[in-house]
Amino acid sequence: MTVLLGCIADDFTGATDLANNLVRAGMRVVQTIGVPQEPLAAEVDAVVVALKSRTIAPGEAVAQSLDALRWLQAQGAQQIYFKYCSTFDSTPEGNIGPVTEALMDALDTDLTIATPAFPDNKRTVFKGYLFAGEVLLNESGMQNHPLTPMTDANLVRVLQAQTRRKVGLIDHVAVAQGPAAIGERIAQLRAQGVGIAIVDAVSNDDLLRLGPALAQMPLVTAGSGVAIGLAANFGIAPSSAASALPAASGLGAVVSGSCSLATNRQVQHFIASGRPALAIDPLRIAAGVDVVAEALAWAAPLVESGPVLVYSTAESGAVKSVQGRLGVEEAGAMVERTIAAIARGLVAQGVRQLVVAGGETSGACVQALGIAQLQIGAQIDPGVPWCHAAAEAAGGTGLHIALKSGNFGTDDFFSKAFTVIG
Ligand code: ADP
Repeated sequence: MTVLLGCIADDFTGATDLANNLVRAGMRVVQTIGVPQEPLAAEVDAVVVALKSRTIAPGEAVAQSLDALRWLQAQGAQQIYFKYCSTFDSTPEGNIGPVTEALMDALDTDLTIATPAFPDNKRTVFKGYLFAGEVLLNESGMQNHPLTPMTDANLVRVLQAQTRRKVGLIDHVAVAQGPAAIGERIAQLRAQGVGIAIVDAVSNDDLLRLGPALAQMPLVTAGSGVAIGLAANFGIAPSSAASALPAASGLGAVVSGSCSLATNRQVQHFIASGRPALAIDPLRIAAGVDVVAEALAWAAPLVESGPVLVYSTAESGAVKSVQGRLGVEEAGAMVERTIAAIARGLVAQGVRQLVVAGGETSGACVQALGIAQLQIGAQIDPGVPWCHAAAEAAGGTGLHIALKSGNFGTDDFFSKAFTVIG
């Protein structure tokens, strides 16, 4: 079993975003939660190791990334892809520069590329400047990000401040001409001693022209956009077979700890369609009521006849009031623990198709269910694929799970998810 493309992603939802793009390009993909202790559980073309290394200390990010690299190499990975955010989220110290440099050293390579361009998501790079939508990165709101404020849109400058390697630019003139011109520009930069080349790309066509020029690079660093041009280098074309998962079986359920606007609409839609739904009250959890046991006793007789929903989802006013009484962090962690315990209980009742709403809530549920690897299937809505967790999760039978972050999905998402899997 040999993996073609081994990916290291610096956060969980970013990893899913990359995995989703690779599947759409025709690759069979597994996403792992952290660096696995065990070998790969399925035969796939690409693996995405999800780290949480975007804002931790650079030394720790480097150590985790090298750990991921060693595991990917042990699985036979032929090319390594370091994935970061399409807004190039980093602090003045890194971690994009330090991690790239460490991976280059470990792979003994003198040149790689760096581009967060993802035109489908309105992230474009021109003359080395990153645009988010219609404006430069530093005018997009990202200049005020609480953890990674981006005050300069010039990626050559931003990256140069984080690395000892010389940073250069493959500009749009070369990219527009195609792989041969890109290759010539790479040779020029290499002769000038450049180690990391920012790449301009303003359209998917640019990314598809870039792909062939990267075929021989041991390391590629990028957002998730560059992925669309890499599968062809391995002789892989888009195919629905890439997203095939084991047949779904068992009962269905939704747990939701997301309070985003879209999730509020999805909960209302599910209730309005006459399906069973139970609200969780954080104040009752705080008062010591065994809300988990209550929810499972409620669900047991209902879940046999169709998907049920257990939710703490509330409008912002109610959330603020709970946070005011319990504290923001404490309320969040308490609700996450409760929902994760309910998810485990539902699986024990025979649920094998589980939808989880909420980014942090998803992390808590995946951890509580002991899920280490997820095979990525077809998307239900953009950015939200059905996934399959191998047998050791869910007591030896496997589990289909969809992890929906905040504002993703149409209003009927909670019912639609079970229709598309059926
Ligand atoms: P999203 O993807 O929509 O941001 P998350 O799960 O990442 O959703 O974050 C929602 C946070 O709000 C979680 O920490 C969750 O535990 C918390 N939470 C959920 N319901 C409530 C509630 N009713 N009151 C207060 N906090 C809540």
